[in-house]
Amino acid sequence: MNQKSQNNLQQYTLANGIKIPSLGIGTWKIRDGREVIRTIRTSLDAGYRLIDTAKIYGNEKGVGKAIRECGIPREQIFVTTKLWNKDQGYEKAHKAFEKSLKTLGLEYVDLFLIHWPVAAARLESWKALVDIAASGKCRAIGVSNYTIPHLQELMNNFDVLPVVNQVEFHPFLYQKDLLDFCVQHNIRLEAYSPLAHGEKLSDPRITVIAKKYEKSNAQILIRWSLQHGLVVIPKSTHSQRIIENIAVYDFLLSEEDMAALDSLNENLRTCWDPTDF
Ligand code: NDP
Repeated sequence: MNQKSQNNLQQYTLANGIKIPSLGIGTWKIRDGREVIRTIRTSLDAGYRLIDTAKIYGNEKGVGKAIRECGIPREQIFVTTKLWNKDQGYEKAHKAFEKSLKTLGLEYVDLFLIHWPVAAARLESWKALVDIAASGKCRAIGVSNYTIPHLQELMNNFDVLPVVNQVEFHPFLYQKDLLDFCVQHNIRLEAYSPLAHGEKLSDPRITVIAKKYEKSNAQILIRWSLQHGLVVIPKSTHSQRIIENIAVYDFLLSEEDMAALDSLNENLRTCWDPTDF
């Protein structure tokens, strides 16, 4: 069995019926052009089929080029991009979406997310996303950095709800209440910075567990999010790490080790805090 078939990416079915791979490659801070193209190619070769980008990352051009030229049928790759804060509002969101499509050079994206819950414009932005989804140019719509009150606000105002909420999530920021709420409302939670942005990779409590399973600390963190039912999008530009980060489907953390990892929560945010955004 080769590495790719061993990885055998598990998929989830979203609330609107479409499938999303449980693991993808993150691309924040990866430079456009050669660096992002090489990273996407390596990831696709390793078996990744989900790519997470955003307008603000400035690399949509290279991401799109790598996808168009990889030889894998477009429908087998799940592409996410996001609406940046200054583009929020009904008309502006439509324009920004069209611009992202054009920069990517793709006919559609799989998932379009509101990047941050900008108070003054987020409801108008959501209205635009609902219409964009209806146009067929995007297969699913969702949000990012939404807390429970932000999601409740959407529920109070719209019939069409996000199918994904992408938030910072790792054992040091175990957002259990948000996870329970999303499960209850059939919103798939997606873990960004699943390796705590690299800040906690040598934590000795993770190392103890990693040794037991003969896995790396990064693999333990990724596996923990997967076993909590999240889509997980670790970022790396290094081939060995890209391959390592997807080799997480051949072991299972025990209930005891999941609980030990759950208990590491210290509300650590390596990104900005949406509760006082
Ligand atoms: P991650 O938690 O994925 O950590 C990335 C860091 O870990 C990098 O420094 C990387 O270094 C290092 N790393 C990766 N794999 C390994 C490994 N196996 N061993 C050792 N070090 C490793 O951080 P991100 O913040 O990038 O989050 C992932 C993705 O989530 C982003 O790229 C982006 O797509 C998304 N995101 C979304 C946000 C939002 O607001 N919606 C906010 C933040 C992130 P190197 O590259 O040198 O290998």
